[in-house]
Amino acid sequence: MSDAESQIDADFGTTEQDDFEPVQVFDDGTGMDLRPGADNCYKCTSCDTSCPVAEVDDDFPGPKFQGPEQWRLKRKEDTDIDGSVMKCSNCMRCDDACPSGVPLSQMHNTARGEYVENHMDKLSAEYIRNRILSNYRTSAEIASKVPRLANIAMNFGPARWVMEKTLGVTAEREFPEFARQTFREWWEERGGPQVRSEEKRVAYFHGCYSNYNTPEVGKAMVRVFEEFGYEVVVPQQRCSGTPMFANGMLDDAKRAAGINVENFSGLIPEGYDIIASCTSCSLSLKQEYPELFDIDGIQDLSSHTYEAIEYLRIHEDVEGAVADASVPDQAFAYHAPCHARNQGLNRQSVELFRELDGVTIEDVGDSCSGISGTYGWKEEKYETSMKIGEEMFDHMHHAEGNVGMTECPTCSMQMEHGTGYDIKHPLQLLEEALV
Ligand code: SF4
Ligand code: SF4
Repeated sequence: MSDAESQIDADFGTTEQDDFEPVQVFDDGTGMDLRPGADNCYKCTSCDTSCPVAEVDDDFPGPKFQGPEQWRLKRKEDTDIDGSVMKCSNCMRCDDACPSGVPLSQMHNTARGEYVENHMDKLSAEYIRNRILSNYRTSAEIASKVPRLANIAMNFGPARWVMEKTLGVTAEREFPEFARQTFREWWEERGGPQVRSEEKRVAYFHGCYSNYNTPEVGKAMVRVFEEFGYEVVVPQQRCSGTPMFANGMLDDAKRAAGINVENFSGLIPEGYDIIASCTSCSLSLKQEYPELFDIDGIQDLSSHTYEAIEYLRIHEDVEGAVADASVPDQAFAYHAPCHARNQGLNRQSVELFRELDGVTIEDVGDSCSGISGTYGWKEEKYETSMKIGEEMFDHMHHAEGNVGMTECPTCSMQMEHGTGYDIKHPLQLLEEALV
């Protein structure tokens, strides 16, 4: 563990084993007033036409209803949140589509939280399933202690059938494998940072998936940044909260955010910026945290958070380095995750790698992959998820490459599931080219 990490842990008393204390998100029912945002809506319906769920599900009223219309209705105190908000996948494409700056996803997240808090039976299979899915880190932490056994058990046919029938977790998908060694175990084993710098410092938010399932992405991130002379530290961290927002588990999300904000914002005065290899994690820290929570240091964390390649493109001549490099011939079908679009990063990998000798990379269009984190894992949402993904699958099949590329772990699951292709993270190709 690095000095900085030890200092942070000592300062804030944070460990992997911290117990969660209950937090009241809706203090008095009036804390989050989104009516001014609702008043900015002039009913152009751009958000509705951009919504992938509304496009394939005629029963979903769409983002305009879930957002401004619902918040206008809430002016009347007796109006409850409509249950259809649970059909929103939190892809956040509607945010991008709105020309009037209506905070649609903030409205959806808040409405979903209120619906779950006030109207969902906490003993129902749906609530228990959603709680388990949104707290993936807890199950992954246990499974990663016995990865071989977990990998067999999680994909054992009869067990999957029971999980589908009792909890509603679809048996159609293969569970992703747990790594034999987590990213954090690897990090400890190598003795933390191999490069020290006063000027170039980043704190890595690896998130759950890079830690438990694809540590090769985290390792690539570390090696690429160290190649550019950065000191990388890896503070203790919780889930970014993305699956919790999508399932209306705002208490859980606020607890995780509190720990993440403490552990990362404390490093900013020491010259560290925060980087994430998952575009949903970076979006969560940049946008959803300050939109939904009032925690000391949250604005600072938001303004110092970047997606990893975004950060390199701002601070280094990474295009120049890539243009001088070469790799064995390979062709990629690249999908930009919706959450990358929201950060204006949808073209970055295509732009970065098009000059890389040996590589052909093709953008497979601007459709949503359809999985949206935990959404496509729900038995009742599986068909919708696959219908949304059809356009992407089709474009991938027509692309020259038969290896997929994306920055989002769950988009990569959907790409693999729909096409059978292997999927790479852009950081893995960058490592191959530069390290
Ligand atoms: S977040 Fe995505 S699924 Fe939800 S309303 Fe907006 S566009 Fe539709
Ligand atoms: S895109 Fe914005 S302004 Fe247009 S209907 Fe949707 S919320 Fe209203």
